[in-house]
Amino acid sequence: MILDFFRLSGKTALVTGANTGLGQAISIALAQAGAHVIGIARRSCEETAQMINNDHGCFHEITVDLNSLDAAEIILKQTKRLTDHVDILVNNAGIILREDAVDVSPDDWNRVIYLNQTFVFLLSQSIAREFFFPQQSGKIINIASMLSFQGGIRVPAYTASKSAIVGLTKALANEWASKNIQVNAIAPGYMETNNTTQLRTDSERSQSILERIPAGRWGKAEDIMGAAVYLSSHASDYVNGFTLAVDGGWLAR
Ligand code: NAD
Repeated sequence: MILDFFRLSGKTALVTGANTGLGQAISIALAQAGAHVIGIARRSCEETAQMINNDHGCFHEITVDLNSLDAAEIILKQTKRLTDHVDILVNNAGIILREDAVDVSPDDWNRVIYLNQTFVFLLSQSIAREFFFPQQSGKIINIASMLSFQGGIRVPAYTASKSAIVGLTKALANEWASKNIQVNAIAPGYMETNNTTQLRTDSERSQSILERIPAGRWGKAEDIMGAAVYLSSHASDYVNGFTLAVDGGWLAR
């Protein structure tokens, strides 16, 4: 039956940035669909763990700063202690630094590009090598942005990194689709999370963004749950290299 295609029972999912915002919502969604979720974050995932445990779901966490040089190795080592298979990788963790392009330091530029772009590649490569290739199956979901398609204002490194995510998603999909590994992305619109706190407290920007969203409201973390389950599940086995916008119609304008 069609709803069975969406079930994730018996699957293990790794989600980066699982302690807050969209990563927390994605973790809860995958757990509700039946997956064992391993949340990766630099801070405690206590709240996410509690919400999943309350639903009788299965959650473990790995605490690691993804900026550390051996982060991918630590994740691999600790994951292997928790499970002998990984079926889903959600590359969600990301940072945004808002400043005029003329003031961006090389350090700020590198920090954003490393976490939002380089580490997404490194972790995908490492999980694919260790789990997806031997299993001949796997799902990768990268978190893109409206700024994968548009320039944005005062966030040049973020825009560059999120634009790269769309390209990387296609590049990996082209190489790995034949191995039964589906690589796709979700591009959230303007969502009410920490990532947009600064924007939402600027009443002028906040109002102009709201006026441009056809749905007439900012997105909530839970709005992304359905897309995450779909792209993690058997239901999307013939979907490759695609970036799905969950944006209240923003890109349609
Ligand atoms: P958020 O700031 O709440 O989440 C960011 C997550 O990344 C947090 O869990 C944080 O702990 C993690 N993280 C950051 N640096 C890390 C590091 N060095 N090591 C480990 N973890 C680290 O905001 P969010 O909106 O939930 O963002 C999640 C993703 O969604 C990001 O990739 C963001 O760019 C993207 N996104 C958000 C929006 C939005 O409107 N909120 C829109 C488009 C894309």
